[in-house]
Amino acid sequence: MVKLTEGRGKELFRKYGVAVPKGVVAGSADDAARAVASGAVPLPCVIKAQVLAGGRGKGGAVRFASTPEEARAAAAAILGSSFQGETVREVLLEEKVAIARELYLSFALDRTARLPILMTSARGGVEIESVDDSEIERQTIDPFPGLVAYERRRAARSLGLTGPLVGELDRLLTGLYRLFDDEDAELVEVNPLAVVGDRLLALDAKVIIEDDAAFRHPEFAAVHDDRTPLEEIAREKEIAFVQLEGNIGVIANGAGLTMATLDVLKEFGGAPGIFLDLGGTDDPKKVTEAFLLMAQAKPKAVFLNIFGGVTRCDTVARGLVTALGSVAPSERFPLVARIRGNNEAEGIAILRAAGVTSVPDLKASAQAVVAAARGGP
Ligand code: ADP
Ligand code: MG
Repeated sequence: MVKLTEGRGKELFRKYGVAVPKGVVAGSADDAARAVASGAVPLPCVIKAQVLAGGRGKGGAVRFASTPEEARAAAAAILGSSFQGETVREVLLEEKVAIARELYLSFALDRTARLPILMTSARGGVEIESVDDSEIERQTIDPFPGLVAYERRRAARSLGLTGPLVGELDRLLTGLYRLFDDEDAELVEVNPLAVVGDRLLALDAKVIIEDDAAFRHPEFAAVHDDRTPLEEIAREKEIAFVQLEGNIGVIANGAGLTMATLDVLKEFGGAPGIFLDLGGTDDPKKVTEAFLLMAQAKPKAVFLNIFGGVTRCDTVARGLVTALGSVAPSERFPLVARIRGNNEAEGIAILRAAGVTSVPDLKASAQAVVAAARGGP
């Protein structure tokens, strides 16, 4: 899922002619103060944490300032802090507008109808989660003609818009639907969409690009997220690698076996924290790369749990032995292997020749890893 921060989302909004307040993204308190002092962001202004989580308004991550000093202080307070586990690396500074009403609107995919859907509600704002279903208007959209005039009018009615605001909404919906379609989005959400005089302004922007279309949008690849440096390297090498709390490394194949292995280790009091899913690969080069990555994460012990289906146990074992040879002695860790399935006997023989034993019983092997991680048999 490629989620864009509000700042990136609003850049897209501008590109599609959707009005947003004047604003600038800043990575430091100095830059924030400069943006305001130079007039790039008019005062009074809003300072908003650029994180992917929502609920910033309620969580103190949206602040207001009426002088450059206040803007600097607000940016300094938010930058580097953590919001729902995400470190704030950027803030968006934008002009504070006089809101008459806050509305909600989004384009999403309705998976049941297998169609895009437009959702609108006159009750937008930070309490959207508690708005009753009956107060949300839903219209599925036929993608061939795209969003048509009567659907836009119906949306205007549901939002209680009249006069020049109807034309405003018409242009805004046309731009947003084009964005949704052209950029392969699975969600384009504006909450709040603010009525400001006789204009409509998108005060927030949430854009998610469909994963399966991500390859068509290399421009979104550099989007910030919370990958660790090793996870970043893994991603480039197309290895499924996740680092969490915990000191036991797990190398398994397939998400199901990886998760089951995690459960078993937990069951025996272990703390699995580094997960590497070899998937269907038994390419020795890939296994070696994966193993070296695991070594860099410095686990206390590693559990290699492989089921040979399509993947062959002997090739995985061969890759593993090559990998073991390339790990420096200072970086070695206790390893417990369990390989079962296709070409199991050859695999076990290759491992044994390299001094690694395969423990066929799941319970016994899990217990051995947990004991090794504790530093004893
Ligand atoms: P979140 O959805 O994470 O809470 P929002 O961007 O929706 O963050 O901001 C929360 C609230 O802050 C909005 O509902 C709105 O009332 C107010 N707000 C946000 N941006 C502006 C702005 N440019 N001018 C005035 N008020 C704003
Ligand atoms: Mg919002």
